[in-house]
Amino acid sequence: MAEKVPKRKPMVGLQPEGDVDWSSYRGVLVVVEQRSGQAKSVSWQLLGEARRLANRLDAPLMALVMGSRVSHLAQEAIHRGADRVFLCDSPELEHYRTRPYSRVCLHVIRTYKPEIVLMGATYTGRDLAGAIATHLPTGLTADSTMLDVDENRLLLASRPAFSEKMLATILCKQFKPQMATARAGVFEALPRDESRTGEIIPVPPQLKPEDIATEVLEFLETTGRVNLEDANVIVAGGRGLGGPAGFRLLRELADELGGVVGASRAAVDLGWIGHDHQVGQTGTTVRPKLYFAIGISGAVQHVVGMQNSSYIVAINKDPQAPIFKIANYGIVGDLFHIVPAITEAVRRRKAGAGEPRPTSAPQTV
Ligand SMILES: Cc1cc2nc3c(=O)[nH]c(=O)nc-3n(C[C@H](O)[C@H](O)[C@H](O)COP(=O)(O)OP(=O)(O)OC[C@H]3O[C@@H](n4cnc5c(N)ncnc54)[C@H](O)[C@@H]3O)c2cc1C
Repeated sequence: MAEKVPKRKPMVGLQPEGDVDWSSYRGVLVVVEQRSGQAKSVSWQLLGEARRLANRLDAPLMALVMGSRVSHLAQEAIHRGADRVFLCDSPELEHYRTRPYSRVCLHVIRTYKPEIVLMGATYTGRDLAGAIATHLPTGLTADSTMLDVDENRLLLASRPAFSEKMLATILCKQFKPQMATARAGVFEALPRDESRTGEIIPVPPQLKPEDIATEVLEFLETTGRVNLEDANVIVAGGRGLGGPAGFRLLRELADELGGVVGASRAAVDLGWIGHDHQVGQTGTTVRPKLYFAIGISGAVQHVVGMQNSSYIVAINKDPQAPIFKIANYGIVGDLFHIVPAITEAVRRRKAGAGEPRPTSAPQTV
């Protein structure tokens, strides 16, 4: 007997409200994310990349700063590359909540009409970007790792797909603004330049009581959560550590260097350390000045998350380990000898003493 298949409704795409003149949309807007008056580093990284896009488009680079007591960030955004900063500073914006923040964003976008809107692919950025894109309505490319513009002023937002096997470039041809969130640690912030000048435009919050439907009673910081994104030094360990105790060695070295501990997914999946320490495709993308990869083989899913580190030091007993291909310094040997020796050397140097004698003779590659 033939099965009765219900008729599908035709898909209806997003429709712009009436005749819209897209040519009036101009410039690139970066939404600066902050918490307690401190900007997320991804915001400055995005401003650096957006500066390049704005130059290519011959259009202004704008930034939007929202929060309470955040005027210093508006000036900072100018030092970091913005030409014009919209500042919405109000006690109602002390803590992030989707509705009031998206109302302010929507007001700025509708009034100043940027052709491109970018924000960090953080928890907050993903939430906010989705809310705004739905209201405008326009498309949104999430979690981009490459951004460019073509000769038709279209944003080319690329992101890994199919377990990093492909890079998908996504365009939003029909609507403005073209929106994308971008991964932290991928783009480079511009050097801070205090001589840069720009315009700061105060934006009143104009919130209605129904826009503030939720009340934040208390904000509890999760203690012990590692901040990989902003770390200058990361000492990361993998399966080669052999168990959770191995991470104690890494923690000692990280403490001496003022850094934090990272991990491969193998170590996380084995339950040796929490997921917030994971670096890589399904963890955090990082960009520290110094990255130690200890007992980590260098699988592509790990490498995509740390390859932009300024200096990579790999310690592995297998000279053929792929991690050595991207390392600036490679040490072949047993991590259980090498890591304590490095920690001791750092301690002695900090104490002003001479170099210790090596406990083994590792081979450098
Ligand atoms: C969809 C998908 C997403 C993924 N996302 C991530 C991700 O975000 N991050 C991530 O890291 N991985 C990710 N992976 C997993 C990734 O493919 C690898 O399996 C993982 O990175 C391997 O971790 P590892 O290097 O610690 O372990 P292994 O590959 O087992 O490497 C261990 C290394 O330790 C060395 N070693 C062992 N003993 C010692 C010793 N005593 N001294 C020195 N060296 C020693 C070995 O020579 C070896 O090179 C993902 C995989 C998939 C399919």
